[in-house]
Amino acid sequence: MGCQHLEEIYELYLLGALAPDDRAKVEEHVERGCPNCLEHLREAALAVYFLCFTERPVRPRPQRKAQLLRRLRKK
Ligand SMILES: [Zn+2]
Repeated sequence: MGCQHLEEIYELYLLGALAPDDRAKVEEHVERGCPNCLEHLREAALAVYFLCFTERPVRPRPQRKAQLLRRLRKK
C-alpha cells in the first residue's frame, strides 16, 4: 500500500474507525518507519485532537463565568 492512500485514512485510524484489515495495513506500514507517514500521522493526531476538542466545547456556567470575570478584573 502506498503512502498516498494511507494519507486519507490516518484520521480514521486514529479515531479507531478503520476496519481491522486497514488498521493492520497502516500499522505495518508505519512500523516499517516510513518518515513521510510518521510526519503525516503526527499532523493527523493534532487534527483529530483539535476536532475532538472543538466538538465538545467547555462552556463555563454563567455563575462560574461571572466569577472568572471578577477575578480577571481584580488584576
Ligand atoms: Zn508511508
